[in-house]
Amino acid sequence: MMSNPLTFLRDFDMESPIRMFLDYDGTLADFALTPDVVTPDPDLILLLSEINSYSNIHPIILSGRKLAHLKGLLPINGLHICGTYGIEMLLPNGEMSCQGNFQKNHIKMLELEGILREQVPECEKIYIENKGAAIAIHLKDIAEDTSSIITQKIVGIICKQFKDPAYILNRNQNFIEYAPLEANKALTVSKILKDNRQEASMNIYIGDDEKDEEAMKIINAVNGISIRVSDLPIISSATYRLKNPFEVRTWLYCFLQARKNNVH
Ligand SMILES: [Mg+2]
Repeated sequence: MMSNPLTFLRDFDMESPIRMFLDYDGTLADFALTPDVVTPDPDLILLLSEINSYSNIHPIILSGRKLAHLKGLLPINGLHICGTYGIEMLLPNGEMSCQGNFQKNHIKMLELEGILREQVPECEKIYIENKGAAIAIHLKDIAEDTSSIITQKIVGIICKQFKDPAYILNRNQNFIEYAPLEANKALTVSKILKDNRQEASMNIYIGDDEKDEEAMKIINAVNGISIRVSDLPIISSATYRLKNPFEVRTWLYCFLQARKNNVH
């Protein structure tokens, strides 16, 4: 992998249509304190608006955040936004598209949230993010022993009372998420590529975590370009590396500049 955001622009064919999958947190923007912090960044809005104004560049925001938050962060007409790993999508024509039975899953998650708040009193101390068809529990900044007690209780409730083969439980030290199987960036990328097969686009994917890695494999398989955002060298299937959101934005600016120079 290379880390210089300028040199690898040479690899791009500047004239062909480009589809650009972009993760949000840790990729386009630094991480927020908690995911409910929705502070739009005017510089980023300007940059993405410009990218989206090109008829032959199709940016797609693909994030684990819920769609409503992404729309608040990026109020850009005609921007293709995929929330909760792609189970809810705002299409460029303004239409909404949902994967799976969103309404049924939404009712299920409301019920789960109610039970968690009722049966796990420690929930007052943590942030429960109801994303509609999925639920995420954020345990950052909680003492380790408290965190493991809460995790045990929550996982117990999900496994005993809400077990569903159509759902997957993801967890790490600070985070528990219960989401439909369709809430998966790799599946979303595959679906978008399949649904738009007639467009002879070059595909780029930029992301910063393991969920992005899975999607990058799909991009690599269609000879696309994948870029992993990581401060330090890391084992990755990505073609290139950029260190942080600042470098990603710089690279995107340079990309647009190179495209302009080529067109005019
Ligand atoms: Mg990210």
